[in-house]
Amino acid sequence: MSKPDYKRVLLKLSGEVLMGNQQFGIDPEFVAELAKEVKEAKETGLQLCLVIGGGNIFRGMAGAAKGMDRAQADYMGMLATVMNALAMQNALEQLGVPTRVQSAIEMDKVCEPVIRRRAERHLEKGRVVIFAAGVGAPYFTTDSGAALRAAEMRCDALLKGTSVDGVYDCDPKTNRSAKRYNSVDYDTVLAQNLRVMDASAVALCRDNDIPIVVFSIREKGNLAKVLRGEGTQTIVRKG
Ligand code: UDP
Repeated sequence: MSKPDYKRVLLKLSGEVLMGNQQFGIDPEFVAELAKEVKEAKETGLQLCLVIGGGNIFRGMAGAAKGMDRAQADYMGMLATVMNALAMQNALEQLGVPTRVQSAIEMDKVCEPVIRRRAERHLEKGRVVIFAAGVGAPYFTTDSGAALRAAEMRCDALLKGTSVDGVYDCDPKTNRSAKRYNSVDYDTVLAQNLRVMDASAVALCRDNDIPIVVFSIREKGNLAKVLRGEGTQTIVRKG
């Protein structure tokens, strides 16, 4: 695989990767390890946007399943993503990486609101921009937030760091003969309901021609490898 020509990427991390080996919440040691990976990626000369989920703290669907009002629960989920963003900002700045957090729900005491032109300027100045609170509306996920910001910031790719090393034709945890794709097109992902990101996020990437690179963030050094075009990954793109 040749080295991809990325100048600006958006990295989406699910909240779960921040909890390390815990069952819940944020493990600061693990966040520090992730921050090192992000720093390494940034040092390749890339402009980097980050979106972090909130599933390690709260998911709206889980609240709704237990009888909460869905929208109310989703707002709690969005607030969880802000906490994760602040944890990552802290870890990055302890490594000397300048960052700004921009939240889709305004919170002027803790971070900036999302302002595209301002985010643009931060990236030009070499700052990592962490977008928090998803799209700022209930009934969405941070995957959709990631796709939206990737489009808005004209990123060359959306990198989705998860606990699996790519996209499989069926669940590799329950099916030992599951096959991993090196590359797969958006419509196959949507038609076969392959679990990459939620459908609205995949459709937004398809409509804006943004490749989605799915890889494991649990493996040390893997993010930099993926950016060099090495390492195990699946690219979702136009067929
Ligand atoms: N959420 C939302 N709107 C958004 C983004 C997130 O309502 O635009 C809520 C939703 O309840 C979601 C939670 O925030 O379950 C945490 O985000 P997500 O589940 O995407 O986190 P991840 O699975 O990536 O950790």
